[in-house]
Amino acid sequence: MDGLMQPRPLTIAHILERAERLYARKYVVTAGAERLDYAGVADGARRLATALDSLGVPAGARVATFASNSRRHLELYLAVPATKRVLHTINIRLSPEHIEYIVDHAEDDVVFVDRGLLPRIWPSAGRLTRVRHWVVLPDGSDTAVPADPRILHYDELVGGHDPFTGSFEDMFTLADENLASGLCYTSGTTGPPKGVLYSHRSTVLHCLGTLAAGLIGIGESDVVMPIVPFFHANAWGLPYGAMMAGASLVLPGPSADPDHLLRLMETERVTVAGAVPTVWVSMASALRSYDLGATRFLLGGGSAVPPALSETYRAAVGVPITHSWGMTEVSPVGTIGGTRSQHRRATAEERVAVRAAQGQPLPLVNVRIVDVETGRELPRDGLAVGELQVAGPWVAGGYYGVEGGGSFTEDGWLRTGDLATLDADGYLRLVDRMKDLIKSGGEWISSVELEAALASHPDVVEVAVIARPDPRWTERPVAYVVLRDGSAATAGELLRHITPMVAKWWLPDDIVFMGSLPKTGTGKLSKSALREATRIA
Ligand code: ADP
Repeated sequence: MDGLMQPRPLTIAHILERAERLYARKYVVTAGAERLDYAGVADGARRLATALDSLGVPAGARVATFASNSRRHLELYLAVPATKRVLHTINIRLSPEHIEYIVDHAEDDVVFVDRGLLPRIWPSAGRLTRVRHWVVLPDGSDTAVPADPRILHYDELVGGHDPFTGSFEDMFTLADENLASGLCYTSGTTGPPKGVLYSHRSTVLHCLGTLAAGLIGIGESDVVMPIVPFFHANAWGLPYGAMMAGASLVLPGPSADPDHLLRLMETERVTVAGAVPTVWVSMASALRSYDLGATRFLLGGGSAVPPALSETYRAAVGVPITHSWGMTEVSPVGTIGGTRSQHRRATAEERVAVRAAQGQPLPLVNVRIVDVETGRELPRDGLAVGELQVAGPWVAGGYYGVEGGGSFTEDGWLRTGDLATLDADGYLRLVDRMKDLIKSGGEWISSVELEAALASHPDVVEVAVIARPDPRWTERPVAYVVLRDGSAATAGELLRHITPMVAKWWLPDDIVFMGSLPKTGTGKLSKSALREATRIA
């Protein structure tokens, strides 16, 4: 017997209309320079909807963005899916070859690009013949705009159209909740980038999942700052989550300067912010120069948050960095860390250890660990290490335009390529990415654990551990370390520091001091670039 409840679809159109109806006076601040309330944002989105119609962009067409986090980008986040088009957020730090590959593969019809980013993408325009329009978003820069009939200007385009006055939500039927709403390509460290195609349903459920109390738990009184770029897996759901909850948004704009970010957090009284660990590292040394007293939740993910980094924030801001595991294929949030009531009586050290875990799966997300060789599920005892597999309504079931692929199991779970343990309470601890684990004498060494140990030395700013081929042991760990300015720490001192923390045979064969470490397109430490550089050197 079926239930008798209304089969209303889950759509992003609802997020737009809810913010417009309930939270019209809440606002979005861009780069500290512009403030617009949600009534204004909704008006922009409604004008953009009719502008896209007038450009003849059909339903289902891919509308791309090549842009920083800004109010106009937010309008695109809303208007494109609310009109049944698909928002393709392009990572602005990809190589020209990758950018051309994904724009072509996605068959983008229109590309919205920050003025200051034109030099990065316009040289490809001649080869991207399928793109009919390039729309320039003002971003405070005065970069020259080429005189070309394909180029349009956002404010003129949007200002020149009347707002759509109907209900976007009413245009959707139940079947439409499975329509594609967004497209995001993984960074393609192995092989060409692969497209993850989100649906309205998956996006709304992910949004509700992250909003749940006890997780990120964004509420109306929050001021949310996604430092994580809009092109990095939907900025972890923070923009939709904030609007759904009625929280205001603070968007950094094009600058990633740590003082700019901290000043924004201070002046806008930001309560919730999210960024990858390398960005939290960049801000750490200046924390005490700002009043971050409004902060109540800091989110870190994309790679492991070293416990020492989280503790630095806890000491200076009063709030640790809450760990979250996710990936583009998981919308992206899969787990959220932090302590539970059972840890109230735990010692400070024990609590640090709990916070270091990637945490528990969100409601509706299922995780398991599986023996890499036999494919058998492993016990949840906190000890057995296996490949992390994940299933749920906001987990990818395939890649856009790619047949099969080895990423899915026969029973439809996503293979993450991560090695992890699960304990009896469901806490996930990532041991390493399969490809980053170091094989030494038939045993495995976790680069993540070595990095966390080294990062606990007060002079270590950044560290990456990779394998060096070794004739006797197959591979041996080598650490690449960036020290605080003026530090005189030596390799011997760092080795002595970590000796009590790891097995003796884990100690790196070499510690190499660097001025900086290479980063990926999403700002994480890039071990593949480091391997490449050290092979050449
Ligand atoms: P990319 O592979 O380009 O980095 P994603 O941003 O989708 O693309 O990265 C997903 C991967 O990032 C995960 O499979 C995992 O290896 C790593 N990761 C994400 N969150 C964490 C975390 N909290 N701790 C450790 N690793 C993480």
